[in-house]
Amino acid sequence: MSKGTVSINAENIMPVIKQWLYSDKDIFVRELVTNGCDAIRKFRWLVNNGQATADDAPDRIDVIADKEKGTLTFIDNGIGMSEEEVVKYIAQVAFSGATDFITKYTEDSKGEGAGIIGHFGLGFYSAFMVSDKVVIDSKSYSDAPAVRWTSEDGMEYEIEPSDRTERGTAITLYIDEADKDFLNLWTLRSTLEKHCAFMPVPIFVSEVVKPEEPKEGEEPKKAPEPQQINDTHPLWMKRPNECTDEEYKEFYRKVFNDYEEPLFWIHLNAEYPFNLKGILYFPRIKNEFTASEGVIKLYNNQVFVADNIKEVIPEFLLLLKGCIDCPDLPLNVSRSFLQNDGYVKKMAAYITRKVADRLVSEFNTKREDYQRYWDDIHPFVKYGCIKDDKFYDRVKSALIYKTTGGEYVTLDEYLNKNCPDGEDKVVYYASDEKRQAQMIKLYNDQGRDVILLNTLIDNNFISFLEYTERDGKVSFKRVDAAADSLTEEGEVSEDARVKLEGLFRKAMGDDTVEVQLKPFKDDALISMITVDEQNRRFTEMSSRWGGMDMKLPEKRTLVLNDKHPLVKWLQAAEENERTETVCAQVADLAEMARQPLVADRMVDFLKRSNALLTQLIEK
Ligand code: ADP
Repeated sequence: MSKGTVSINAENIMPVIKQWLYSDKDIFVRELVTNGCDAIRKFRWLVNNGQATADDAPDRIDVIADKEKGTLTFIDNGIGMSEEEVVKYIAQVAFSGATDFITKYTEDSKGEGAGIIGHFGLGFYSAFMVSDKVVIDSKSYSDAPAVRWTSEDGMEYEIEPSDRTERGTAITLYIDEADKDFLNLWTLRSTLEKHCAFMPVPIFVSEVVKPEEPKEGEEPKKAPEPQQINDTHPLWMKRPNECTDEEYKEFYRKVFNDYEEPLFWIHLNAEYPFNLKGILYFPRIKNEFTASEGVIKLYNNQVFVADNIKEVIPEFLLLLKGCIDCPDLPLNVSRSFLQNDGYVKKMAAYITRKVADRLVSEFNTKREDYQRYWDDIHPFVKYGCIKDDKFYDRVKSALIYKTTGGEYVTLDEYLNKNCPDGEDKVVYYASDEKRQAQMIKLYNDQGRDVILLNTLIDNNFISFLEYTERDGKVSFKRVDAAADSLTEEGEVSEDARVKLEGLFRKAMGDDTVEVQLKPFKDDALISMITVDEQNRRFTEMSSRWGGMDMKLPEKRTLVLNDKHPLVKWLQAAEENERTETVCAQVADLAEMARQPLVADRMVDFLKRSNALLTQLIEK
């Protein structure tokens, strides 16, 4: 037996590693399994190049828990190591990056540690985070005798001959008291499933069970077979034209545990300029989305790296679900590095472009299907447009709007139909189809379509569109924002208007309301109330998004129909209790056409209406 100390003078390395990885201990599973995969890949490479002789043993990795002994063993049948190699790779090379590690990152923020370990070739040492002792038994593919390396702290080790007879390496972890849960088959299995679900070599998990004494006359029970936990050929590695819809759906169900079918998906498969493969699914995004709904899993050569890395996947795409595999990404480096990396930026832009192109092609080739998805995907698409100009530019032609009549139209289609040449380009919308039914009807009666914008994102989205399309001067107005297209041009008396303003201000108890007098297109309508669009939007947005209630005073206008007999009567009438009652009733009815009356105003309205009805029978 020989003894040694790993070649590093910084004795505090282990405490540092332990501290770094504290938040994500189960990383050691990934590191040890990846090393096993690498070792198997190296052996295959030697065989293919005629430098090693193949045998019958199929590639595999076994992870075995033994509760009684308190051990967790990772076994691979890869290339193996000779004594010399163990000393060189494990004790020396592994720590060559360690001094760097200490000097560079101890001052840095804590959360980035998990990624750094792999980068500095410290993967194997993550085993010490959960172990009191680690033993390596390895037999090289060459003739070298099997070797055993034992260390309790990752600093001092012993080397002796091993009794291992098969090619490959077994790494046995004597799990420390605090981490015994890893010996639990369920924990172990789910940790493996999290990190290794798509690794390219079959991985089996099992536990050592002490055979029960067979009862008299019974056969002894067989130990349960090890179970394979991974899919070595994830769907994203296949060519898109070789995958069926059923396979895509099945993959989605399995990976995301979501039994609702995805709407559609995009199979990314690029070799140039990036080596990138993956599948992005559009799930049904409920109207009021939250950022946590989607999951995008990032892989590096089928090894799981992390979920939802904002630096690689544009934030708005995180509403989707999917897997992305980028072997070239320097994923084991810190996140701040990823943020500033030109390659990463280009890749994010590429993914965004693919998503936009797919939406446009769905729209162009399968408009009916697309319209059916639209209700589910539009918050996501709109959010993307606001977040990313380039996405907006690309997806623009596929943006559609649902009318209150149930049709789906593009902005151009809407404008061509509703705003013939010479008219201002105004899109009328409703935010609540039921409450605003009366106003919607007024527009529809004039042959104008009203679109429905009723999600949280819509306010921001139309402001964004108005700003972005300012050259084309498109504006959006809610059905109660202006009376322009419901009224006609025509001379009205300013004196009459002033008089009416006085009457109504008094009756309504509101000195700020502006009164307009106009001939209406609809003769039967007495009046309507409009509220300035920009003011209303600002107030809504600041309370929704900013959390603060910055109420601008509502700019309300009461528009009266100059053609209506009641309005004519008011113009001529002498001011008295009767005119006041009529004005109050007219104003309340106008208000009710856009929103329900509340509190005292409702009480007053009911009282007044009852009195008016009673007067009717008294006459
Ligand atoms: P990295 O994998 O990043 O190089 P590790 O500390 O995980 O760093 O491993 C150091 C080296 O030890 C590996 O590069 C490899 O040469 C060797 N090694 C580790 N595990 C195995 C194994 N299971 N089989 C063969 N060689 C291994």
